[in-house]
Amino acid sequence: MGKTIDIGRGNDTPEQQPQQPKFNIADSVEMKCDECDSTVFISAVKFRKISKLLAGTPQDVIIPLEIYVCGSCGAINTALYMETLKQIGINETNIST
Ligand SMILES: [Zn+2]
Repeated sequence: MGKTIDIGRGNDTPEQQPQQPKFNIADSVEMKCDECDSTVFISAVKFRKISKLLAGTPQDVIIPLEIYVCGSCGAINTALYMETLKQIGINETNIST
């Protein structure tokens, strides 16, 4: 005689509708490369490192940062990069490319 084990799957995460943005895409303007006015960007990654001495961890902490570079000349889009830095709480005015 076999016993049936019923594993209940909890479904306690209510679905949340994302807020509809209140703007018209037609009002948007293309972002351009600061250097060459190209409008195509490629996703790239920068890495920041925190010394294990500062982080108090066994190893250095490496943080990947997604950035966008110009698909034509390779320059980092400063506005997008600053936005990324702001999101993680870094105020950096001196950007090295
Ligand atoms: Zn460019």
